[in-house]
Amino acid sequence: MPRLAAAFPTCFLLLLTLAAATSEPLATLLTHGPRSTRRVALTFDADMTPGMEKALQKGKVKSYDNVAVRQILQATHTPATFFFTGMWVEEYPEPAREIAQDPLFEVEDHSYDHPGFEQPCYGLASIPQAQKVTDIEHAQSVIARVTGVTPRYFRFPGGCENARDLTLVRSLGLIPVDWDVISGDAGQPDPKVIIQKVLKETQDGSIIVMHSHGGKAPATALALPAIIAGLKTRGFTFVKVSDLLNRP
Ligand SMILES: [Zn+2]
Repeated sequence: MPRLAAAFPTCFLLLLTLAAATSEPLATLLTHGPRSTRRVALTFDADMTPGMEKALQKGKVKSYDNVAVRQILQATHTPATFFFTGMWVEEYPEPAREIAQDPLFEVEDHSYDHPGFEQPCYGLASIPQAQKVTDIEHAQSVIARVTGVTPRYFRFPGGCENARDLTLVRSLGLIPVDWDVISGDAGQPDPKVIIQKVLKETQDGSIIVMHSHGGKAPATALALPAIIAGLKTRGFTFVKVSDLLNRP
């Protein structure tokens, strides 16, 4: 499935100009901020699927809350954006609240149970078109009820979506945002591989995707300190996604 970003390699500023000119929301997926400053956004997806919940209940996985990720961010005063699934918030209400209440962080929507909006999508469950609105609104209401924060951005699970999905997300008042740097922490046990990839691929305005659920992303926290230090050394400043996209 070709990524929409690849099909429409239009630059961010041009999109903003077009949006202002037409005053209509464009069905566009944002993948990065302005390429003109050395600001970048670290983002962490908190996935949860029915299968992950089963593994938790059976004791196959101890926890899907990678506490070390936020501890490192807090200790280094690094702003970050978390994309929560509704199911993750239901499983971990206290951590979700802690993250939402920390001014270093912002909390956004990553669907209710992490289905693949467009198929195939890395083995994620499919979701009928008619249920997509329900899924997104369900996540919005769970996140708002538990954390007190109403997300403004939506990230598609697996980065799998089609043009209709983008229009649908916009019609719900949310802004679809993915990434331009895949950290590769999913399924990667070696932190060095993650560190090298992020330091090599990050550029001005980048949005970097990582995961805060541990489990099949076991080396995220091991890679994070060197990623933060390495990008700082290269002159990058970390900001939240909303700040990167100039929507404080
Ligand atoms: Zn995800």
